[in-house]
Amino acid sequence: MNSRILVVGGGYVGLYTALRLQRKLRKGEATITVVDPNSYMTYQPFLPEAAAGNLSPRHVVVPLRRVLDKAEILNGRIVRVDHANRTAEFQPEIGPGRELSYDVLVMAAGSVSRTLPVPGLAEHGIGFKTVGEAIHLRNHVLQQLAIADSSQSEEVRRKALSFVFVGAGFAGVEAIAELEDMARDASKLYRNVRPEDMRWMLVEASDRILPEVGPEMGRWTLGQLRGRGVDIRLNTRLESAEGQRIKLSDGTMFDSATLVWTAGVKPSPVVGAGDLPLDERGRIKATEYLTIDGLTGAFTAGDNAAVPDLTEPGAFCAPNAQHAVRQSKVLAGNVVASLRGRPLKPYRHSYAGSVAGLGLHLGVANVYGFKAKGLLAWFLHRTYHLSRVPTLNRKVRVMADWTLALFFRREFIALGGLERPREEFEAATRPQVYDGRLRKVG
Ligand SMILES: Cc1cc2nc3c(=O)[nH]c(=O)nc-3n(C[C@H](O)[C@H](O)[C@H](O)COP(=O)(O)OP(=O)(O)OC[C@H]3O[C@@H](n4cnc5c(N)ncnc54)[C@H](O)[C@@H]3O)c2cc1C
Repeated sequence: MNSRILVVGGGYVGLYTALRLQRKLRKGEATITVVDPNSYMTYQPFLPEAAAGNLSPRHVVVPLRRVLDKAEILNGRIVRVDHANRTAEFQPEIGPGRELSYDVLVMAAGSVSRTLPVPGLAEHGIGFKTVGEAIHLRNHVLQQLAIADSSQSEEVRRKALSFVFVGAGFAGVEAIAELEDMARDASKLYRNVRPEDMRWMLVEASDRILPEVGPEMGRWTLGQLRGRGVDIRLNTRLESAEGQRIKLSDGTMFDSATLVWTAGVKPSPVVGAGDLPLDERGRIKATEYLTIDGLTGAFTAGDNAAVPDLTEPGAFCAPNAQHAVRQSKVLAGNVVASLRGRPLKPYRHSYAGSVAGLGLHLGVANVYGFKAKGLLAWFLHRTYHLSRVPTLNRKVRVMADWTLALFFRREFIALGGLERPREEFEAATRPQVYDGRLRKVG
C-alpha cells in the first residue's frame, strides 16, 4: 500500500526526517509531502555569522526542492490538524486553502519567539530566528553607524549607537557578540564613530548567561563580553520600549533604535490548532518513541514537542539543534518501522554540551566536559557546525566564504534598499509639482 506521509515543517526535524525517509523507503511504499512557508531550511546556528557578514545569507539555507528530490514540497502553512480524520488544512501564501489527507503525520513545526506583554516591544522589537531577520539586523546596524556618522545631534547619535538585546541564551549571546565585533570593525570606516561611542547592552532576567555551556564557561563569556565593553545587566527585565525609549527594571532609561528580542521560544502556534495533545507549556506530548502520546500514525520531535529525556528521568529534551538532528534519525526509522509493522526504537541521547561563536577568532565550548575558550573554541565551533550543515554543496560554500574572509576584509555595505525595493520607483511615479524656486510643493 502506498501510504501518505505528511511532514509539517521543513526545518531541522522536517528536513532530516524527510531526507532519511526518502533514502529508506522502497519505491511505491509511501509518498512524502513536506509543508513549510519557506522553500528552504535555515541552519539557525549560522545566523549570527550571516548577520556579521562572515557568511553569505544564501549559504546558511538549504533549498528543500533540490535536496528532497523524491518528496513533494508545498509552500504555505498548515493551519489546523484534524488527526481524528487524518486531515490537515493547508493554506498557501496566495489563493484558497485546501485539505491534505494523510496516513502518517510528522509534526515538526519548531518554535517561535516567546514574547512578553512589554509595551512597545511589538512595534520596535525584532526577533533573531530567520535569515530575513539576520539580514535586516546587519543592514540596520550599519545604517545606524551611517546615521550617527552624518549627524551632529548628540541625541540622534546616542539613539543610533545604542543596541539592546534581551535574553542571554545561544541566540542572544552569539548575535550580540558577532554584531558588536562587526560594528567595531566597521567603525574604522566612519570618521565620527569610535567604538567607545557605541552602547551594546545585553539584558537578562536570570543571574547568568549562556547556560548551554555550563556555569564556568558562562562566567568566562560574561567576563569576556564585559571586557569588550558590552554592558550586561543580569537579574534585569525590559519593562517598556514605547517610543523607542528603553526602560529597564533597574531604573535605567535611554533611547535606542535597536531592540532585539531573543528571550526564549515557545512552540509554533499550529500545534495548538487542532486535536493534538499538549502539555502545560503548549508543547506536543511525545513519547520516548517520538510518537504523539495516545495517537497512532502520528510522530513529533524538535522544538514543538515535549520529548522525555531518558537520560534524566522526569526531564524533557531541551529545544536545540543537537536533539533535533538526532531525534529525526530515530523518528524516520520509527516511521518506516511502523509502516512495516516492526517494533519502534526509543530516543535516548545525553546532551553532549555546546559550542558558541563570540565574534571572529573567539568562541567558547563545553563538549562532553572538555572546556575550551578563545581561538580553539572558535575553531571547534566552526568545525562542528561545518560538519553539521546539511549537504556537501552547503559545506563547500560555507568553507569558501570562510576561506575568502582569510584574505579579504569583510564587506560593510548596508543594502537597506533591498528591503524596500519599490520605494524609489513609487516616489518617481508620484505627481510632482515644483514652484518657481524648484522646491517640491506637492
Ligand atoms: C540564532 C540561533 C542560534 C542557534 N544556535 C544553536 C546552536 O549553536 N546549537 C544548537 O544546538 N541549537 C541552536 N539553536 C536552536 C536550533 O536552531 C533549534 O533548536 C532547531 O532549529 C529546532 O529544530 P526544529 O526542526 O524543531 O525547528 P526549526 O528548525 O525552527 O523548523 C521548524 C520549521 O517549521 C516551519 N513551520 C512553522 N510553522 C509552520 C506551519 N504552520 N506549517 C508549516 N510549517 C511551519 C518553519 O518555517 C520552520 O522551517 C539556535 C537557534 C537560533 C534561533
